[in-house]
Amino acid sequence: ALVLGIETSCDETGVGLVRDGVLLGDALASSMDEHARFGGVVPEIAARAHLEALPSMVRHAVDHAGVRLADVDVVAVTAGPGLASAVQVGLAAGKAYALSLGVPLYGVHHLAGHAAVDTLEHGPLPERCVALIVSGGHTSLLLLGDLARDPVVHLGDTLDDAAGEAFDKVARLLGLPYPGGPAIDRAALDGDPEAIAFPRPLTGARDDPYAFSFSGLKTAVARWVERHTGPLPVADVAASFQEAVADTLSRKAVAAGRQYACDTLLMVGGVAANSRVRSLTAQRCAAADIRLRVPTPRLCTDNGAMIAAVGDLLARAGRPPSPLDLAMHPTLTLTSALIPPAGPE
Ligand code: ATP
Ligand code: MG
Ligand code: FE
Repeated sequence: ALVLGIETSCDETGVGLVRDGVLLGDALASSMDEHARFGGVVPEIAARAHLEALPSMVRHAVDHAGVRLADVDVVAVTAGPGLASAVQVGLAAGKAYALSLGVPLYGVHHLAGHAAVDTLEHGPLPERCVALIVSGGHTSLLLLGDLARDPVVHLGDTLDDAAGEAFDKVARLLGLPYPGGPAIDRAALDGDPEAIAFPRPLTGARDDPYAFSFSGLKTAVARWVERHTGPLPVADVAASFQEAVADTLSRKAVAAGRQYACDTLLMVGGVAANSRVRSLTAQRCAAADIRLRVPTPRLCTDNGAMIAAVGDLLARAGRPPSPLDLAMHPTLTLTSALIPPAGPE
């Protein structure tokens, strides 16, 4: 089946076309520049930008894929979590495409998209694996089975900020541009990751070993910057902060892989695009004899292909479609890829 995927949960307008696990084409627009002067995404600006960009992104993706819109068999759209007004635009568009094409609609979980996109590059996921979803709004360690059928088990989540949020906030402290993650990644290239010993929050936690916390780390960086006199060694601070995040994430993810006897670790979401997070996790996975699967950086951040990938998995598993009066869910933990989660069959 040819699946059209639509993603509008934040500031990226993403459209992708997938058929049987193969990415045929995609298109992406971002309203990022319009939010830069506010230091963060403004929901109403994002929503308006989605409305303006969606029709042409659908056209671009269809052209890129070399198909016709009329060939689409299934529509998949992000139904949450995300900025309510932004999700709303994509959901309305998804419903309109499904209705006018006379094809089923799947409302999908944005985070399931982050995980599923990896199948487009690296093939079907194993029967079970540990997944680290590390993005702008989430930092979670999960136990995944069949994404299209099995419930998702949360091993641990962040107790405060998401890792991506910490990157964005620390970048602002350092006077680096928004979005902060890529800016810190670049600045850190010229820095010494051992220059400053920033804390590794909760790495010793026993009762909740897979919980994360990044607000204390951000505060530690802020204190260090405040106390420092003379020109700020931006590259060293960026590299040392990035090292603390990479160390914490990879340590816990590999420990979970070991404890749950999984031979595969899936690492996804915007922060999985980070060069040091990737290299340190790869090194630790190799030492633990765990296979690391991580999408190419371009597919780690929000895009339409990831939503089409979920639709493709759901359609191939013969899952019941979502109702056309499907409501958006701005806040939703990942328990199931399909929204609303279907009851017993
Ligand atoms: P969520 O998926 O939790 O709803 P989101 O969709 O806003 O949040 P993503 O698009 O997955 O998040 O990722 C965006 C985040 O990833 C931002 O916080 C950004 O700074 C971060 N990020 C992107 N590239 C990098 C990088 N190279 N290094 C570190 N962080 C990065
Ligand atoms: Mg974004
Ligand atoms: Fe995302």
